[in-house]
Amino acid sequence: PAAGAPVLRVAEVKQVFGGLTALESVSFELRHGEVLGLMGPNGAGKSTLLNAISGVTRATSGTIELEGERTERLESNAVSVRGIARTFQTVRLFWDMTVLENLLVGGHARLAGFLPRFLSPVPFVRRNERRTVEEAEAALAFVDAWDCRDRRASSLDAYQQRKVEIARALMTRPRVLLLDEPAAGLNESETRDLARLISRIREHGIDVILIEHDMDLLMGVSDRIIVLDHGVIIADGTPAEIRTDPAVLEAYLGS
Ligand code: ADP
Ligand code: MG
Repeated sequence: PAAGAPVLRVAEVKQVFGGLTALESVSFELRHGEVLGLMGPNGAGKSTLLNAISGVTRATSGTIELEGERTERLESNAVSVRGIARTFQTVRLFWDMTVLENLLVGGHARLAGFLPRFLSPVPFVRRNERRTVEEAEAALAFVDAWDCRDRRASSLDAYQQRKVEIARALMTRPRVLLLDEPAAGLNESETRDLARLISRIREHGIDVILIEHDMDLLMGVSDRIIVLDHGVIIADGTPAEIRTDPAVLEAYLGS
């Protein structure tokens, strides 16, 4: 797609959990070539929105389109095959596996759960989704975690874990990458390094939605920002516009 063309279209997405409306009627577009920041107070519905887009939960109503194809009824594996990858607010890795094994098994949590610890996951990955060691090493090199490849995931520090999770997401060759608070638990220099990594991901033609509490990171790396409050988009603009938006200020002060 051309720069600026809509890649992902979210239209009137509503998410109800029992008596709670977590998303009211959320509509926005992710355009090609951009990092779209997603901010809002705790409980605003940010993770819920990424869950709906990635098929982790099914939206109560509304439509989601990736390059013109509807995805809102697909399971998360099918959404991932279509080209939407994500990371989670709390890093999800297979902690007893090595970094390389984590990348080779991909996001197939159910599959990995069946495997005894001494078995390599590789032969079990379905043929059409086979991931090669070369691809995994390239993804690890891209996120600057290649030297961690033979380490057990549980032995990594917070930033290494985050980079491995991002590398695993990149293994699916996504069109769109959803990052849920990737800087949580990182120090300042790691956060700056993460900002550069996100920019490099964008330069590779992958469009990014970034949820982040670190405002310097979010404002620095996002081309455009949307702000959620109580499941409703209350602002949409450039970082400079969002910084001075009275509704945004009020949402944060009032929360
Ligand atoms: P944020 O990521 O913006 O902090 P969330 O999307 O995690 O907010 O949560 C939005 C609201 O939806 C919260 O009130 C939360 O408790 C609720 N919520 C999220 N997921 C579920 C769920 N699976 N079942 C019930 N309530 C949920
Ligand atoms: Mg969240």
